[in-house]
Amino acid sequence: MTMDGIDVLLSEVGPRDGLQNVKAVMPTAAKKRWIDALVAAGLREIEVGSFVPAKLLPQLADTAEIVRHARSHPGLTVAVLVPNVRGASDAIAAGAHKLTLPLSVSETHSIANLRQNHEQVLAAARAISALCAEVPEESRPTFEVSLSTVFGCTLEGAIPDDTIRRLSAELMESGCDEIGLSDTTGYATPDAVVHVVDLVRSVAGREAVTGLHLHNTRGLGLANVLAGLSVGITTFDASSGGLGGCPSAPGASGNIVTEDLVFMLESMGKRTGIDLQALITSRSHLAAALPGEPLYGFIADAGLPKGFVPASPPNFRSAA
Ligand code: ZN
Repeated sequence: MTMDGIDVLLSEVGPRDGLQNVKAVMPTAAKKRWIDALVAAGLREIEVGSFVPAKLLPQLADTAEIVRHARSHPGLTVAVLVPNVRGASDAIAAGAHKLTLPLSVSETHSIANLRQNHEQVLAAARAISALCAEVPEESRPTFEVSLSTVFGCTLEGAIPDDTIRRLSAELMESGCDEIGLSDTTGYATPDAVVHVVDLVRSVAGREAVTGLHLHNTRGLGLANVLAGLSVGITTFDASSGGLGGCPSAPGASGNIVTEDLVFMLESMGKRTGIDLQALITSRSHLAAALPGEPLYGFIADAGLPKGFVPASPPNFRSAA
């Protein structure tokens, strides 16, 4: 990850989180064109897929090929989700730069969704850390474990601080590089963001906690970004067009919408390195490849305010 010339890193998760929640399978060639357009708009990190069995998620069956394609863009961090050791091994073979293993802090959710209890996921984290350590340092991927349902779970409700603290400590011992915080259920509020970031940092250290994965299920997505900024979070996941929607809240986006997030940050003087108009234009790839799929977000529909001046200088790409 490079922060050269930018203040906030946006990690685009549409090709993974978005597409896995869309019924239609986006053709591989269309995915490549979409990713190319995102990179041309200035995105520096993209989660391009997930190494899960194709029969579970046919939408992401071409992840290895997409990783290889995305790697052709110099300077782009190619991130993938890995549900287990097998997936991590495939991701390393494909050349992914960043691996994210989800660990649901709600053990009920973990067993229901991943069919794994905490000890099994922690064992996977240790094994994946060991796999990464075998990769020569210059090409070694970053390994992040993302604490999902950390802001609350639809099955268990609020998660006790002690559980979050214990899992964070065990993860740092497992050898992972970073701990991400993920509002899987859209339960986060600004106060909770500050509280959980502080809590995990008190165990894992400040440098290990830099990223948030937020949802807009209850309309607080961007407010939660502001809370994250206030405690020094520098990486935010977001999805172009809010792709995939929110299964539990029809009519709402799931992930926060990249375009709206760029608009807010740039208007606050925070450089994202992203050309907002080019990003909005890249939605045409989604409309063409996924006909009838709803796209979300306000700025794409309302348009940029007259006289809008972004914080990122117009020549940021040639300067990068
Ligand atoms: Zn998400």
